[in-house]
Amino acid sequence: MTRSLQGNAESAVLVGTPAVPGVVAAPTIRPVPRVRIPAESESIPKSDRASQSAALRLASATVAERLRDRAEAASGAAAEVLSANAAMAADPGWLATAENHLAEGRSAIAAAVAATEQFATTFTGLGGLMAERVTDLRDVCDRIVAELAGRPEPGIPTPARPSILLADDLAPADTAGLDPNLIVGLAMSLGGPTGHTAIIARQLGIPCAVAVAGLDEIPSGTDILLDGGAGRVLVRPTPETVTEAVGGYRELAERAAGWTGPGATADGHRVEVLANVQDGTGAHAAHAASAEGVGLFRTELCFLDRESEPTIAEQAAVYGAVLDAFPADKVVIRTLDAGSDKPLRFAPHDDEPNPALGVRGIRITEQDSGILDRQLDAIVAAAQGRGYTPWVMAPMISTVAEAKSFATRVRARGLIPGVMIEVPAAALLAEAILEHVDFVSIGTNDLAQYTMAADRMSPRLAALTDPWQPAVLRLVAATAAAGQRLGKPVGVCGEAAADPLLACALAGFGITSVSAAASAVRAVGARLASVTMADCRRAATAVLDTTDPRSARRAASEILG
Ligand code: PEP
Ligand code: MG
Repeated sequence: MTRSLQGNAESAVLVGTPAVPGVVAAPTIRPVPRVRIPAESESIPKSDRASQSAALRLASATVAERLRDRAEAASGAAAEVLSANAAMAADPGWLATAENHLAEGRSAIAAAVAATEQFATTFTGLGGLMAERVTDLRDVCDRIVAELAGRPEPGIPTPARPSILLADDLAPADTAGLDPNLIVGLAMSLGGPTGHTAIIARQLGIPCAVAVAGLDEIPSGTDILLDGGAGRVLVRPTPETVTEAVGGYRELAERAAGWTGPGATADGHRVEVLANVQDGTGAHAAHAASAEGVGLFRTELCFLDRESEPTIAEQAAVYGAVLDAFPADKVVIRTLDAGSDKPLRFAPHDDEPNPALGVRGIRITEQDSGILDRQLDAIVAAAQGRGYTPWVMAPMISTVAEAKSFATRVRARGLIPGVMIEVPAAALLAEAILEHVDFVSIGTNDLAQYTMAADRMSPRLAALTDPWQPAVLRLVAATAAAGQRLGKPVGVCGEAAADPLLACALAGFGITSVSAAASAVRAVGARLASVTMADCRRAATAVLDTTDPRSARRAASEILG
């Protein structure tokens, strides 16, 4: 549970969007600003080019090695981001481009910047996930430039005592390298609850609020109280407020640490608490975190780097690794959600002006149904010999016909068919869709994006894509009601399910399972175990009566504590 920070007249309260729950009090620090080194206008004499080239290669290798070392010390998503950035720092294509600039008479620093900008233009043109990598690219370049200039590496300083980091936004490499013992909280002016930084902070267990207005006004070294679960920052709190808020949260965290499932309310109503995973390692971590199974296996994330479609055997090995983590439990495998921000090179995708509204998820089947058929065959192969029937669901369903056609393909292979409800049209027709499938799972990240007409990747629109938006919650409630009428399971697997308070309201709507990042599983399970179903239902009714996210949160916490 998060305690409200509001109502403390002696202190300013800054409001943002919750990203990672946790209540911490500490002085603030800020990242060391990146020093922009002006590129020389003079051409470098030919005699210096060899030494400039050697310096560039040495700097690139040094930065790559440093990032690789950090990757080795990290795990999961953080390790992946750091390894990808290490590879970028020593990328032969990038070095060859920089060499071309050196040959034109540029210095090593100017060549590094020019090569990076050339790559950034290409990545931006490609759009989607590649465009997102421009932040990483420029971050890596800044590190190489600092190395060439003999300056300290830009980014987060190592504080002498535990501190809360305030920033506009963070490069993923900076977030991934954070030491949770020293950076005990994160508050950002930009960023979204489903962005890179929030996902890594969640994995590291660092309380985090994003899109917080007014952070610029807080000088470094100011004592603040951060409530990541409420998305609030209290400036210069009194010692009494700190003791009460931090102590109260610690009590709840201790209760959560002792939660081992299965998911149920205090009066015994079952609500499955599942995990979102992207590979076997993550699935084992989720099992260790007391998840009862997998509610969302994002299969497309396994193949983002593949040039060609993985074979059925290759896919089966990847899927089997996740099934092995939960040999006797529910595992929901989502078929490839390619397109938009997750383009797969082997899946057909055209240049589209609005990729989030374009050919993604199940829509790819229209152009090439072979990819789906082969993936379903791979799931069957993975399940063979494991004595288990996986649940399989399709992303981005917007019509009943799509759901029906998907279910036919899945049933023909003896698997259990379901679909995601991520498009308002699907939520409105949930009952008709449920006639054809055995279950649905609500993706609140996309459902919020499409309901609110607000890009989920835009840090400036984070308040609109807040899962507590009452319009989104009404669609969730309508879908849950459709499931109850037909007696079929309706889960939630978007980030909404990772918010312990919201999970209780979802249970009140009639949601039968919640699926969240492994790090959120215990907090959600413990919160559900602390409330009765009657209170969950009262909270559900109360939030549906509100007209904005803040009132919805307040209405739920007034009832659920
Ligand atoms: C969602 O949209 O809420 C969801 C779970 O899918 P993804 O975040 O992978 O798009
Ligand atoms: Mg989605």
